[in-house]
Amino acid sequence: MKMRALVKKYPERGLWEEMVDVPSPKEGEALIKVHKVAICGTDVHIYDWNDWAKATIKTPMIIGHEYVGQIVEINGHSKSFNVGDIVSSEGHVVCGKCRNCRAGRFHLCPNTEGIGVNRTGIFAEYACIPLSNLWLCDPSIPEEMYAIFDPYGNATHTALSFEMVGEDVLITGAGPIGIMAAAICKHVGARNVVITDLVDYRLDLAKKVCPSVTAVNTGKVSIDEVKQSLGMKEGFDVGLEMSGNAKALNSMIDNMIHGGKIALLGIQNPGTVVDWNKIVFGCLKIKGIYGREMFETWHKMTTMLQSGLDISSVITHRLNFDDFEKGFELMLSGNSGKIVLSL
Ligand code: NAD
Ligand code: ZN
Repeated sequence: MKMRALVKKYPERGLWEEMVDVPSPKEGEALIKVHKVAICGTDVHIYDWNDWAKATIKTPMIIGHEYVGQIVEINGHSKSFNVGDIVSSEGHVVCGKCRNCRAGRFHLCPNTEGIGVNRTGIFAEYACIPLSNLWLCDPSIPEEMYAIFDPYGNATHTALSFEMVGEDVLITGAGPIGIMAAAICKHVGARNVVITDLVDYRLDLAKKVCPSVTAVNTGKVSIDEVKQSLGMKEGFDVGLEMSGNAKALNSMIDNMIHGGKIALLGIQNPGTVVDWNKIVFGCLKIKGIYGREMFETWHKMTTMLQSGLDISSVITHRLNFDDFEKGFELMLSGNSGKIVLSL
């Protein structure tokens, strides 16, 4: 049987829709009929064929890792899943053998493989996924939300890294992940949540998703002015770096309270410079974030949606799978939030 798939066929800009064989699940895998997928910044890098993609992606390969679908076949035995279940899945496949895996700290596995990056992805009508990566969807949550659980998980993992109740939070970068993080911080009880960007479309979207956030274009207004207008006497208690931009990172370091905590999700360019002495004398705590905690982050994502967190308007475009090129160009323009493609 054949299926439609988006294949990174050649080592050059673009993505090609092809008819390929439906895969067969190996032992310990499920075959998923994919319902909806979402485009990640990583997919855009692969589409655009930047230096990271050139160094990382082996063509030809089906890419994509954000999705929701239905189990149509299971190869092996599963206590947790049945044919017919609606599932999403963790995009990082871990080794299960290393020290961290054996200790249950799967997100710290050094042998992690990314679905749609280091192994076959899910931009296709069917995909094979290890049973250990699947997440059972709650039918009370709209199915399309599960198509963005992967980036919502990045936002959750980062935002829940430090104590939030009553804290003042600075988020640099109002991409989809920064915006979702802002809504999470408010949901779990932060006081002031300030989100910065240089693009008004993104800041307007942040206000739409989370009306109580303070959205600031730092190309026009300084963080100092914002602190004053909020009546903040000292710096931010928590910083979530979600832009991958060195200027934003340095401005965050400049605006933290002594002893403040910073979580770094944004991927900085190699050789990025910060003034380490500001971290030393400010007694700042810095934590790197990669992926999601398996599966505590997934649990929290579910329970926060069940307890009233609404991030649905971060999905700004819904397109047909065959119109993927339009979706990628929209992502590249910066004038979008999450884009969901339906099969
Ligand atoms: P995105 O590119 O959509 O958003 C980044 C935003 O930062 C953009 O809106 C951009 O305008 C803004 N920005 C650029 N320079 C800025 C500055 N000086 N000040 C304030 N804002 C600025 O990305 P996203 O999908 O929301 O992801 C956020 C970041 O997290 C990216 O760097 C991405 O590569 C990274 N990421 C990391 C992981 C991980 O596991 N560590 C996972 C997913 C994404
Ligand atoms: Zn491991």
